[in-house]
Amino acid sequence: MIKVLDYPMRIGGEACPAATGEWIDTAYPFTRKTWARIPRGTAVDAAAAVGAAVQAFERPDWAGLTPSARGKLLHRLADLFEARAEEFARLEVMDNGKRITEMLGQMRRIPDWYRYFAGLADKVEGAVLSNENQAVLNITRPAPLGVVVCITPWNSPLLLAAYKLAPALAAGCTVVLKPSEFTSVSSVVFADLFAEAGFPPGVVNVVTGYGDEIGAALVSDPRIAKVSFTGGDVGGRAVYKLAAEHFHEVALELGGKSPNIVFPDADLDNAANGVLAGIFAATGQTCIAGSRLLVHRDIHDDLVERIVSKSKGIRMGDPLDAATQMAPVATEAQYQKILEYIDIAKAEGATCVLGGKAGQGAECGDGLFIEPTIFTGVTNDMRIAREEVFGPILSVIPFDSEDEAITIANDTDYGLAAGLWTQDLSRAVRLSERLKTGTVWVNIYRAVSYTSPFGGIKQSGIGRENGKKAIEEFFAPKSIWFNTAPTVANPFEMT
Ligand code: NAD
Repeated sequence: MIKVLDYPMRIGGEACPAATGEWIDTAYPFTRKTWARIPRGTAVDAAAAVGAAVQAFERPDWAGLTPSARGKLLHRLADLFEARAEEFARLEVMDNGKRITEMLGQMRRIPDWYRYFAGLADKVEGAVLSNENQAVLNITRPAPLGVVVCITPWNSPLLLAAYKLAPALAAGCTVVLKPSEFTSVSSVVFADLFAEAGFPPGVVNVVTGYGDEIGAALVSDPRIAKVSFTGGDVGGRAVYKLAAEHFHEVALELGGKSPNIVFPDADLDNAANGVLAGIFAATGQTCIAGSRLLVHRDIHDDLVERIVSKSKGIRMGDPLDAATQMAPVATEAQYQKILEYIDIAKAEGATCVLGGKAGQGAECGDGLFIEPTIFTGVTNDMRIAREEVFGPILSVIPFDSEDEAITIANDTDYGLAAGLWTQDLSRAVRLSERLKTGTVWVNIYRAVSYTSPFGGIKQSGIGRENGKKAIEEFFAPKSIWFNTAPTVANPFEMT
Protein backbone atom coordinates (compact mmCIF):
# COMPACT_ATOMS: atom_id res chain seq x y z
CA MET A 1 0.00 0.00 0.00
CA ILE A 2 1.57 3.36 -1.04
CA LYS A 3 1.27 6.21 1.44
CA VAL A 4 -0.40 9.05 -0.49
CA LEU A 5 1.17 12.42 0.34
CA ASP A 6 -0.67 15.76 0.34
CA TYR A 7 1.01 18.80 -1.21
CA PRO A 8 -0.91 21.97 -0.30
CA MET A 9 -0.60 25.22 -2.27
CA ARG A 10 1.72 28.04 -1.12
CA ILE A 11 0.04 31.42 -0.81
CA GLY A 12 1.72 34.35 0.94
CA GLY A 13 4.26 31.95 2.43
CA GLU A 14 1.58 29.71 3.97
CA ALA A 15 0.69 26.13 3.04
CA CYS A 16 -3.00 26.13 2.04
CA PRO A 17 -5.51 23.49 1.02
CA ALA A 18 -8.21 24.57 -1.45
CA ALA A 19 -10.98 26.72 0.03
CA THR A 20 -13.43 23.97 -0.97
CA GLY A 21 -11.29 21.30 0.70
CA GLU A 22 -11.20 19.25 -2.53
CA TRP A 23 -8.10 17.41 -3.78
CA ILE A 24 -6.88 16.02 -7.12
CA ASP A 25 -5.04 12.69 -7.26
CA THR A 26 -1.62 12.48 -8.92
CA ALA A 27 -0.55 9.11 -10.35
CA TYR A 28 2.88 7.75 -11.32
CA PRO A 29 2.56 7.07 -15.08
CA PHE A 30 4.60 3.85 -14.81
CA THR A 31 2.30 2.19 -12.27
CA ARG A 32 -0.82 4.35 -12.73
CA LYS A 33 -1.05 4.36 -8.91
CA THR A 34 -1.85 7.51 -6.94
CA TRP A 35 1.10 8.68 -4.86
CA ALA A 36 0.18 12.32 -4.12
CA ARG A 37 -2.73 14.75 -3.90
CA ILE A 38 -2.83 18.44 -4.76
CA PRO A 39 -5.59 20.92 -3.86
CA ARG A 40 -8.31 21.59 -6.43
CA GLY A 41 -8.02 25.36 -6.18
CA THR A 42 -10.83 27.58 -7.44
CA ALA A 43 -11.54 31.30 -7.91
CA VAL A 44 -11.40 31.93 -4.13
CA ASP A 45 -7.84 30.59 -3.94
CA ALA A 46 -6.86 32.46 -7.13
CA ALA A 47 -8.04 35.73 -5.55
CA ALA A 48 -6.08 35.01 -2.36
CA ALA A 49 -2.89 34.28 -4.30
CA VAL A 50 -3.19 37.37 -6.49
CA GLY A 51 -3.93 39.40 -3.33
CA ALA A 52 -0.74 38.10 -1.69
CA ALA A 53 1.29 38.90 -4.82
CA VAL A 54 -0.22 42.42 -5.08
CA GLN A 55 0.67 43.14 -1.45
CA ALA A 56 4.19 41.78 -1.85
CA PHE A 57 4.70 43.90 -4.97
CA GLU A 58 3.96 47.06 -2.98
CA ARG A 59 5.71 46.15 0.28
CA PRO A 60 9.11 47.78 0.90
CA ASP A 61 10.78 44.46 1.75
CA TRP A 62 10.44 43.63 -1.97
CA ALA A 63 9.67 46.91 -3.77
CA GLY A 64 12.48 48.62 -1.84
CA LEU A 65 15.18 46.15 -2.84
CA THR A 66 17.84 47.32 -5.26
CA PRO A 67 18.16 45.30 -8.47
CA SER A 68 21.51 43.97 -7.17
CA ALA A 69 19.80 42.77 -3.99
CA ARG A 70 17.21 40.92 -6.08
CA GLY A 71 20.10 39.36 -7.99
CA LYS A 72 21.66 38.14 -4.74
CA LEU A 73 18.40 36.46 -3.70
CA LEU A 74 18.22 34.71 -7.07
CA HIS A 75 21.83 33.50 -6.69
CA ARG A 76 20.95 32.07 -3.27
CA LEU A 77 17.89 30.37 -4.74
CA ALA A 78 20.06 28.81 -7.48
CA ASP A 79 22.47 27.41 -4.87
CA LEU A 80 19.64 25.93 -2.81
CA PHE A 81 18.08 24.39 -5.90
CA GLU A 82 21.37 22.91 -7.05
CA ALA A 83 21.78 21.11 -3.73
CA ARG A 84 18.36 19.47 -4.15
CA ALA A 85 18.40 18.79 -7.91
CA GLU A 86 18.05 15.03 -7.50
CA GLU A 87 15.05 15.33 -5.20
CA PHE A 88 13.30 17.62 -7.72
CA ALA A 89 14.15 15.26 -10.59
CA ARG A 90 12.52 12.35 -8.76
CA LEU A 91 9.40 14.40 -7.99
CA GLU A 92 9.05 15.32 -11.67
CA VAL A 93 9.52 11.71 -12.78
CA MET A 94 6.78 10.62 -10.36
CA ASP A 95 4.55 13.34 -11.78
CA ASN A 96 5.11 13.17 -15.54
CA GLY A 97 6.81 9.81 -15.98
CA LYS A 98 9.73 11.17 -18.00
CA ARG A 99 13.13 9.48 -17.72
CA ILE A 100 15.17 10.21 -14.60
CA THR A 101 18.25 10.93 -16.73
CA GLU A 102 16.34 13.56 -18.73
CA MET A 103 14.81 15.20 -15.66
CA LEU A 104 18.13 15.18 -13.79
CA GLY A 105 19.72 16.85 -16.80
CA GLN A 106 17.04 19.54 -16.70
CA MET A 107 17.29 20.06 -12.92
CA ARG A 108 21.05 20.46 -13.10
CA ARG A 109 20.65 23.20 -15.70
CA ILE A 110 17.86 25.13 -13.98
CA PRO A 111 20.19 27.05 -11.61
CA ASP A 112 21.85 28.54 -14.70
CA TRP A 113 18.58 30.30 -15.57
CA TYR A 114 18.32 31.93 -12.15
CA ARG A 115 22.01 32.91 -12.16
CA TYR A 116 21.86 34.37 -15.66
CA PHE A 117 18.90 36.60 -14.84
CA ALA A 118 20.36 37.39 -11.39
CA GLY A 119 23.30 38.84 -13.28
CA LEU A 120 21.03 40.84 -15.56
CA ALA A 121 18.93 42.33 -12.74
CA ASP A 122 21.16 45.40 -12.30
CA LYS A 123 22.02 45.80 -15.97
CA VAL A 124 18.68 47.01 -17.24
CA GLU A 125 19.06 50.71 -17.83
CA GLY A 126 16.87 53.65 -18.65
CA ALA A 127 17.90 56.45 -20.98
CA VAL A 128 18.27 60.20 -21.21
CA LEU A 129 16.37 61.23 -24.32
CA SER A 130 17.12 64.13 -26.61
CA ASN A 131 14.47 66.85 -26.62
CA GLU A 132 13.89 69.89 -28.82
CA ASN A 133 13.29 71.97 -25.69
CA GLN A 134 16.67 72.37 -24.00
CA ALA A 135 15.07 73.30 -20.69
CA VAL A 136 13.46 69.88 -20.51
CA LEU A 137 15.15 66.75 -19.24
CA ASN A 138 13.34 63.59 -20.33
CA ILE A 139 14.45 60.23 -18.94
CA THR A 140 13.08 56.73 -19.03
CA ARG A 141 13.22 54.34 -16.08
CA PRO A 142 12.36 50.65 -16.30
CA ALA A 143 9.40 50.01 -13.96
CA PRO A 144 8.53 46.40 -13.04
CA LEU A 145 5.15 45.42 -14.50
CA GLY A 146 3.47 44.08 -11.35
CA VAL A 147 1.92 40.67 -10.70
CA VAL A 148 2.69 38.05 -13.33
CA VAL A 149 0.60 34.88 -13.64
CA CYS A 150 2.80 32.03 -14.92
CA ILE A 151 1.01 28.94 -16.25
CA THR A 152 3.03 25.84 -17.14
CA PRO A 153 2.32 22.48 -18.84
CA TRP A 154 3.17 18.98 -17.63
CA ASN A 155 6.14 18.09 -19.77
CA SER A 156 8.92 20.09 -18.06
CA PRO A 157 7.35 21.89 -15.10
CA LEU A 158 10.30 23.46 -13.28
CA LEU A 159 12.40 24.19 -16.37
CA LEU A 160 9.54 26.03 -18.06
CA ALA A 161 8.78 27.82 -14.79
CA ALA A 162 12.42 28.99 -14.72
CA TYR A 163 11.99 30.57 -18.19
CA LYS A 164 9.32 32.79 -16.62
CA LEU A 165 10.20 33.23 -12.96
CA ALA A 166 13.89 34.03 -13.39
CA PRO A 167 13.39 37.15 -15.55
CA ALA A 168 10.14 38.19 -13.80
CA LEU A 169 11.77 38.18 -10.34
CA ALA A 170 14.99 39.76 -11.58
CA ALA A 171 12.80 42.59 -12.91
CA GLY A 172 11.07 43.07 -9.54
CA CYS A 173 7.68 41.57 -10.39
CA THR A 174 5.82 39.18 -8.10
CA VAL A 175 4.42 35.89 -9.31
CA VAL A 176 1.55 33.45 -9.07
CA LEU A 177 2.63 30.15 -10.61
CA LYS A 178 0.02 27.60 -11.68
CA PRO A 179 1.54 24.32 -12.82
CA SER A 180 -0.36 21.65 -14.71
CA GLU A 181 -2.93 19.72 -12.70
CA PHE A 182 -0.97 16.57 -13.65
CA THR A 183 2.43 17.74 -12.42
CA SER A 184 2.11 20.22 -9.58
CA VAL A 185 4.16 18.60 -6.83
CA SER A 186 7.63 19.81 -7.83
CA SER A 187 6.42 23.42 -8.16
CA VAL A 188 4.75 23.37 -4.74
CA VAL A 189 7.90 22.01 -3.08
CA PHE A 190 10.00 24.51 -5.05
CA ALA A 191 7.99 27.38 -3.54
CA ASP A 192 9.55 26.67 -0.14
CA LEU A 193 13.05 27.40 -1.45
CA PHE A 194 12.08 31.05 -1.96
CA ALA A 195 11.47 31.54 1.77
CA GLU A 196 14.74 29.75 2.53
CA ALA A 197 16.62 31.99 0.08
CA GLY A 198 15.21 35.10 1.81
CA PHE A 199 12.47 36.20 -0.60
CA PRO A 200 9.68 37.97 1.30
CA PRO A 201 6.37 36.06 1.60
CA GLY A 202 3.97 36.55 -1.31
CA VAL A 203 6.67 37.27 -3.91
CA VAL A 204 6.20 33.74 -5.29
CA ASN A 205 2.91 31.93 -4.77
CA VAL A 206 2.07 28.51 -6.18
CA VAL A 207 -1.54 27.45 -6.68
CA THR A 208 -2.89 24.19 -8.06
CA GLY A 209 -5.99 22.96 -9.83
CA TYR A 210 -7.61 22.78 -13.24
CA GLY A 211 -6.92 25.24 -16.04
CA ASP A 212 -10.54 26.17 -16.65
CA GLU A 213 -11.13 26.67 -12.91
CA ILE A 214 -8.29 28.31 -11.00
CA GLY A 215 -6.24 28.99 -14.18
CA ALA A 216 -9.04 30.99 -15.81
CA ALA A 217 -9.76 32.82 -12.53
CA LEU A 218 -6.13 33.95 -12.27
CA VAL A 219 -6.09 35.24 -15.85
CA SER A 220 -9.40 37.06 -15.29
CA ASP A 221 -8.19 38.91 -12.19
CA PRO A 222 -8.03 42.62 -13.03
CA ARG A 223 -5.19 43.17 -10.55
CA ILE A 224 -2.59 41.22 -12.54
CA ALA A 225 -0.32 42.81 -15.15
CA LYS A 226 0.74 39.94 -17.36
CA VAL A 227 0.11 36.29 -18.17
CA SER A 228 2.98 34.12 -19.28
CA PHE A 229 1.50 30.87 -20.58
CA THR A 230 3.10 27.69 -21.90
CA GLY A 231 0.78 24.97 -23.12
CA GLY A 232 -1.37 23.83 -26.00
CA ASP A 233 -3.27 25.96 -28.49
CA VAL A 234 -6.70 25.28 -26.94
CA GLY A 235 -5.61 26.56 -23.52
CA GLY A 236 -3.57 29.30 -25.16
CA ARG A 237 -6.56 30.58 -27.11
CA ALA A 238 -8.76 30.59 -23.98
CA VAL A 239 -6.09 32.47 -22.01
CA TYR A 240 -5.57 35.01 -24.81
CA LYS A 241 -9.31 35.79 -24.92
CA LEU A 242 -9.64 36.10 -21.13
CA ALA A 243 -6.56 38.31 -20.90
CA ALA A 244 -7.94 40.57 -23.64
CA GLU A 245 -10.96 41.34 -21.45
CA HIS A 246 -8.63 43.13 -19.04
CA PHE A 247 -5.91 44.25 -21.50
CA HIS A 248 -3.33 42.13 -19.68
CA GLU A 249 0.01 41.67 -21.38
CA VAL A 250 0.35 38.14 -22.72
CA ALA A 251 3.17 35.80 -23.72
CA LEU A 252 2.16 32.48 -25.26
CA GLU A 253 4.50 29.53 -25.82
CA LEU A 254 2.44 26.95 -27.67
CA GLY A 255 2.80 23.79 -29.70
CA GLY A 256 4.67 22.77 -32.82
CA LYS A 257 4.90 20.40 -35.77
CA SER A 258 8.58 20.88 -36.41
CA PRO A 259 10.34 19.58 -39.53
CA ASN A 260 13.72 17.85 -39.38
CA ILE A 261 15.09 18.19 -42.94
CA VAL A 262 17.83 15.88 -44.17
CA PHE A 263 19.82 16.42 -47.41
CA PRO A 264 21.95 13.82 -49.19
CA ASP A 265 25.15 15.67 -48.25
CA ALA A 266 24.45 15.24 -44.51
CA ASP A 267 26.36 12.86 -42.28
CA LEU A 268 23.52 10.35 -42.20
CA ASP A 269 24.48 8.71 -38.94
CA ASN A 270 24.53 12.05 -37.17
CA ALA A 271 21.25 12.97 -38.83
CA ALA A 272 19.69 9.70 -37.68
CA ASN A 273 20.79 10.44 -34.11
CA GLY A 274 19.37 13.97 -34.36
CA VAL A 275 16.05 12.65 -35.66
CA LEU A 276 15.85 10.14 -32.79
CA ALA A 277 16.71 12.84 -30.24
CA GLY A 278 14.00 15.02 -31.74
CA ILE A 279 11.16 12.53 -31.56
CA PHE A 280 11.85 9.65 -29.17
CA ALA A 281 14.15 11.09 -26.49
CA ALA A 282 11.32 12.59 -24.46
CA THR A 283 8.72 10.11 -25.76
CA GLY A 284 7.82 12.86 -28.21
CA GLN A 285 6.38 14.94 -25.36
CA THR A 286 8.09 18.16 -26.21
CA CYS A 287 6.87 21.24 -28.02
CA ILE A 288 9.99 21.12 -30.22
CA ALA A 289 9.54 17.46 -31.22
CA GLY A 290 10.88 16.92 -34.73
CA SER A 291 7.71 15.08 -35.64
CA ARG A 292 8.01 15.56 -39.41
CA LEU A 293 11.10 14.03 -41.02
CA LEU A 294 11.57 15.62 -44.44
CA VAL A 295 14.11 13.50 -46.29
CA HIS A 296 15.54 13.84 -49.79
CA ARG A 297 14.28 10.99 -51.96
CA ASP A 298 17.84 9.90 -52.89
CA ILE A 299 18.61 8.95 -49.29
CA HIS A 300 15.10 8.14 -48.12
CA ASP A 301 15.49 4.37 -47.81
CA ASP A 302 19.00 4.54 -46.38
CA LEU A 303 18.04 7.05 -43.67
CA VAL A 304 14.78 5.32 -42.77
CA GLU A 305 16.64 2.04 -42.41
CA ARG A 306 19.21 3.60 -40.07
CA ILE A 307 16.50 5.22 -37.95
CA VAL A 308 14.40 2.07 -37.77
CA SER A 309 17.40 -0.02 -36.81
CA LYS A 310 18.48 2.40 -34.05
CA SER A 311 14.89 2.71 -32.79
CA LYS A 312 14.38 -1.05 -32.54
CA GLY A 313 16.93 -1.13 -29.75
CA ILE A 314 15.25 1.56 -27.64
CA ARG A 315 14.72 0.20 -24.15
CA MET A 316 11.36 0.99 -22.53
CA GLY A 317 10.95 0.62 -18.79
CA ASP A 318 10.62 2.24 -15.38
CA PRO A 319 11.49 5.95 -15.79
CA LEU A 320 13.23 5.90 -12.40
CA ASP A 321 15.71 3.34 -13.79
CA ALA A 322 18.69 5.18 -15.31
CA ALA A 323 18.99 2.46 -17.99
CA THR A 324 15.53 3.22 -19.43
CA GLN A 325 15.68 4.96 -22.81
CA MET A 326 12.02 5.58 -23.47
CA ALA A 327 9.46 6.28 -20.77
CA PRO A 328 5.66 6.06 -20.70
CA VAL A 329 3.54 9.01 -21.73
CA ALA A 330 2.32 11.24 -18.95
CA THR A 331 -1.45 10.89 -18.84
CA GLU A 332 -4.23 8.49 -19.75
CA ALA A 333 -5.81 11.10 -22.04
CA GLN A 334 -2.53 11.63 -23.86
CA TYR A 335 -2.08 7.86 -24.23
CA GLN A 336 -5.52 7.47 -25.82
CA LYS A 337 -4.92 10.47 -28.08
CA ILE A 338 -1.66 9.02 -29.42
CA LEU A 339 -3.26 5.63 -30.11
CA GLU A 340 -6.04 7.44 -32.00
CA TYR A 341 -3.48 9.27 -34.15
CA ILE A 342 -1.86 5.93 -35.00
CA ASP A 343 -5.25 4.70 -36.26
CA ILE A 344 -5.78 7.96 -38.15
CA ALA A 345 -2.38 7.66 -39.88
CA LYS A 346 -3.11 4.08 -40.90
CA ALA A 347 -6.56 5.04 -42.20
CA GLU A 348 -5.03 7.93 -44.16
CA GLY A 349 -2.78 5.46 -46.00
CA ALA A 350 0.57 6.00 -44.28
CA THR A 351 2.76 2.91 -43.90
CA CYS A 352 3.75 1.92 -40.38
CA VAL A 353 7.34 0.64 -40.58
CA LEU A 354 7.93 0.48 -36.81
CA GLY A 355 5.78 0.26 -33.68
CA GLY A 356 2.24 1.46 -34.18
CA LYS A 357 0.86 0.09 -30.94
CA ALA A 358 0.96 0.27 -27.16
CA GLY A 359 4.05 -1.11 -25.44
CA GLN A 360 3.00 -4.31 -23.71
CA GLY A 361 6.19 -6.18 -22.76
CA ALA A 362 6.94 -7.14 -19.17
CA GLU A 363 9.32 -4.16 -18.91
CA CYS A 364 6.32 -1.84 -19.46
CA GLY A 365 4.53 -2.93 -16.28
CA ASP A 366 1.18 -1.13 -16.06
CA GLY A 367 2.70 1.96 -17.66
CA LEU A 368 1.22 4.12 -20.40
CA PHE A 369 3.70 3.02 -23.06
CA ILE A 370 3.53 3.62 -26.80
CA GLU A 371 6.16 1.92 -28.95
CA PRO A 372 8.49 4.17 -30.94
CA THR A 373 6.46 4.53 -34.13
CA ILE A 374 7.52 5.49 -37.65
CA PHE A 375 5.23 6.13 -40.60
CA THR A 376 6.55 6.41 -44.16
CA GLY A 377 4.57 7.47 -47.22
CA VAL A 378 3.18 10.45 -45.34
CA THR A 379 2.02 13.46 -47.32
CA ASN A 380 1.90 16.89 -45.75
CA ASP A 381 -1.88 17.14 -46.05
CA MET A 382 -2.47 14.14 -43.75
CA ARG A 383 -3.62 14.87 -40.22
CA ILE A 384 -0.59 13.00 -38.88
CA ALA A 385 1.58 15.64 -40.60
CA ARG A 386 -0.50 18.66 -39.62
CA GLU A 387 -1.63 18.14 -36.02
CA GLU A 388 0.50 18.05 -32.90
CA VAL A 389 0.43 14.49 -31.51
CA PHE A 390 2.81 15.05 -28.58
CA GLY A 391 3.95 11.43 -28.61
CA PRO A 392 6.62 9.13 -30.11
CA ILE A 393 5.26 9.19 -33.67
CA LEU A 394 7.52 10.14 -36.58
CA SER A 395 6.06 11.00 -40.01
CA VAL A 396 8.47 10.61 -42.92
CA ILE A 397 7.84 12.81 -45.96
CA PRO A 398 10.12 12.63 -49.03
CA PHE A 399 11.17 15.66 -51.12
CA ASP A 400 13.12 16.18 -54.35
CA SER A 401 14.51 19.71 -54.17
CA GLU A 402 15.40 22.50 -51.74
CA ASP A 403 12.37 24.49 -52.83
CA GLU A 404 10.05 21.58 -52.23
CA ALA A 405 11.59 20.94 -48.79
CA ILE A 406 11.03 24.55 -47.77
CA THR A 407 7.48 24.59 -49.14
CA ILE A 408 6.56 21.47 -47.15
CA ALA A 409 8.39 22.67 -44.03
CA ASN A 410 6.58 26.02 -44.02
CA ASP A 411 3.19 24.55 -44.98
CA THR A 412 1.99 24.23 -41.37
CA ASP A 413 -0.04 26.23 -38.87
CA TYR A 414 2.91 26.11 -36.48
CA GLY A 415 6.30 27.85 -36.49
CA LEU A 416 8.32 26.82 -33.46
CA ALA A 417 11.50 25.08 -34.66
CA ALA A 418 13.18 23.25 -37.53
CA GLY A 419 16.25 21.06 -38.00
CA LEU A 420 18.53 21.11 -41.07
CA TRP A 421 21.04 18.36 -41.78
CA THR A 422 23.59 19.27 -44.46
CA GLN A 423 27.35 19.72 -44.79
CA ASP A 424 26.88 22.53 -47.32
CA LEU A 425 27.35 25.80 -45.46
CA SER A 426 25.77 28.01 -48.09
CA ARG A 427 22.70 25.77 -48.19
CA ALA A 428 22.48 25.88 -44.39
CA VAL A 429 22.59 29.69 -44.36
CA ARG A 430 20.20 30.04 -47.32
CA LEU A 431 17.59 27.67 -45.93
CA SER A 432 17.78 28.79 -42.32
CA GLU A 433 16.69 32.22 -43.61
CA ARG A 434 13.74 30.76 -45.49
CA LEU A 435 12.33 28.59 -42.68
CA LYS A 436 9.41 30.31 -40.98
CA THR A 437 10.15 29.27 -37.39
CA GLY A 438 11.43 30.81 -34.17
CA THR A 439 14.45 28.47 -34.02
CA VAL A 440 16.52 26.67 -36.66
CA TRP A 441 19.08 24.04 -35.67
CA VAL A 442 21.75 23.04 -38.20
CA ASN A 443 23.34 19.62 -37.58
CA ILE A 444 22.01 19.62 -34.02
CA TYR A 445 18.50 19.25 -32.55
CA ARG A 446 16.67 20.24 -29.32
CA ALA A 447 19.33 22.66 -28.09
CA VAL A 448 18.02 25.40 -25.76
CA SER A 449 19.82 27.83 -23.51
CA TYR A 450 19.08 30.68 -21.14
CA THR A 451 21.21 32.85 -23.46
CA SER A 452 19.17 32.26 -26.63
CA PRO A 453 15.70 33.64 -27.43
CA PHE A 454 13.07 30.90 -27.63
CA GLY A 455 9.52 31.11 -28.94
CA GLY A 456 7.36 30.65 -31.97
CA ILE A 457 5.46 32.34 -34.73
CA LYS A 458 2.01 31.59 -36.18
CA GLN A 459 0.12 29.16 -33.88
CA SER A 460 3.28 28.40 -31.93
CA GLY A 461 2.82 31.55 -29.94
CA ILE A 462 3.58 35.15 -29.17
CA GLY A 463 6.75 36.52 -27.58
CA ARG A 464 10.17 35.16 -26.69
CA GLU A 465 11.63 33.66 -23.53
CA ASN A 466 15.34 33.36 -22.61
CA GLY A 467 18.17 35.58 -23.76
CA LYS A 468 19.06 39.06 -22.56
CA LYS A 469 15.94 40.74 -23.88
CA ALA A 470 13.59 38.40 -21.98
CA ILE A 471 13.95 40.51 -18.83
CA GLU A 472 12.61 43.57 -20.68
CA GLU A 473 9.29 41.73 -21.14
CA PHE A 474 8.70 42.26 -17.40
CA PHE A 475 9.26 46.01 -17.38
CA ALA A 476 7.26 48.93 -18.69
CA PRO A 477 9.53 51.88 -19.48
CA LYS A 478 8.32 54.96 -17.62
CA SER A 479 8.99 58.27 -19.36
CA ILE A 480 9.66 61.08 -16.85
CA TRP A 481 9.87 64.76 -17.89
CA PHE A 482 11.61 67.45 -15.80
CA ASN A 483 11.21 71.10 -16.68
CA THR A 484 14.24 73.18 -15.66
CA ALA A 485 12.98 76.50 -17.10
CA PRO A 486 12.29 79.13 -14.39
CA THR A 487 8.83 79.98 -15.76
CA VAL A 488 6.05 77.99 -17.35
CA ALA A 489 4.36 79.79 -20.25
CA ASN A 490 0.70 80.74 -19.97
CA PRO A 491 -0.95 78.50 -22.60
CA PHE A 492 -3.36 81.28 -23.62
CA GLU A 493 -0.68 83.86 -24.38
CA MET A 494 1.09 83.52 -27.73
CA THR A 495 4.79 84.38 -27.62
P1 NAD B 1 -2.49 22.60 -21.73
O1 NAD B 1 -2.71 23.79 -22.60
O2 NAD B 1 -3.57 21.60 -21.61
O3 NAD B 1 -2.18 23.07 -20.24
C1 NAD B 1 -1.13 23.95 -19.96
C2 NAD B 1 -1.46 24.71 -18.70
O4 NAD B 1 -2.53 25.60 -18.98
C3 NAD B 1 -1.92 23.83 -17.53
O5 NAD B 1 -1.42 24.36 -16.33
C4 NAD B 1 -3.43 23.98 -17.60
O6 NAD B 1 -4.06 23.74 -16.37
C5 NAD B 1 -3.56 25.44 -18.03
N1 NAD B 1 -4.81 25.79 -18.69
C6 NAD B 1 -5.52 25.06 -19.56
N2 NAD B 1 -6.64 25.74 -19.94
C7 NAD B 1 -6.61 26.92 -19.29
C8 NAD B 1 -7.49 28.05 -19.24
N3 NAD B 1 -8.65 28.09 -19.94
N4 NAD B 1 -7.14 29.11 -18.49
C9 NAD B 1 -5.98 29.10 -17.77
N5 NAD B 1 -5.14 28.03 -17.75
C10 NAD B 1 -5.44 26.96 -18.51
O7 NAD B 1 -1.14 21.95 -22.21
P2 NAD B 1 -0.48 20.59 -21.69
O8 NAD B 1 -1.26 19.45 -22.25
O9 NAD B 1 -0.25 20.67 -20.23
O10 NAD B 1 0.96 20.69 -22.40
C11 NAD B 1 1.21 20.26 -23.68
C12 NAD B 1 1.23 21.42 -24.64
O11 NAD B 1 2.18 22.40 -24.21
C13 NAD B 1 1.67 21.02 -26.03
O12 NAD B 1 0.85 21.62 -26.98
C14 NAD B 1 3.09 21.55 -26.12
O13 NAD B 1 3.54 21.79 -27.43
C15 NAD B 1 2.98 22.80 -25.31
N6 NAD B 1 4.31 23.23 -24.86
C16 NAD B 1 4.85 24.36 -25.42
C17 NAD B 1 6.13 24.76 -25.06
C18 NAD B 1 6.77 25.99 -25.66
O14 NAD B 1 7.71 26.51 -25.04
N7 NAD B 1 6.34 26.47 -26.80
C19 NAD B 1 6.84 24.03 -24.10
C20 NAD B 1 6.24 22.89 -23.55
C21 NAD B 1 4.97 22.51 -23.94
